[in-house]
Amino acid sequence: MVRLVIEVKEPRRSIPIIGSLSGMMLVMRHLFRKPVTVQYPEEKSKLPDRFRFRIFLKLDDCVGCTLCEQVCPNGSITMQHVDRENPRNKRMIYPDVNFGTCTVCRNCEEICPTDAIYLTHVFETSRTRNSFTYSPEELAMQEDEVKK
Ligand code: SF4
Ligand code: SF4
Repeated sequence: MVRLVIEVKEPRRSIPIIGSLSGMMLVMRHLFRKPVTVQYPEEKSKLPDRFRFRIFLKLDDCVGCTLCEQVCPNGSITMQHVDRENPRNKRMIYPDVNFGTCTVCRNCEEICPTDAIYLTHVFETSRTRNSFTYSPEELAMQEDEVKK
């Protein structure tokens, strides 16, 4: 006859105070560290050098070649007629940019033969109006001049 013997081990008893103390020590360690958060918008974090967002346009330098529109991978740029005198832009067409679809890939900046369109560190473009598209004139304005 085979006898089956099952040995039941006593569960290890943990002392609850050790867990509480280690939690408190963790809190104390972090209490005197510099916080990783900042009080935005009063305080602003330093942006990485390669950060980029808001696109600007120098209207006088744009020759209306449409290269930026053609190279944009998601159709975020559309050429618009702007009634302004510019001997370098006889067709009087300039790019607008839809920031709702722009992926900040920088293709437009790289292809532009006159450096008229370029990306910057500006990122505070929140608005209440029902469009993310900046007209060519708005692309030439500072952010606080653009109608929100
Ligand atoms: S912004 Fe540059 S690439 Fe775009 S139409 Fe003007 S000149 Fe051409
Ligand atoms: S950054 Fe890229 S996605 Fe945005 S408008 Fe320029 S080409 Fe288009």
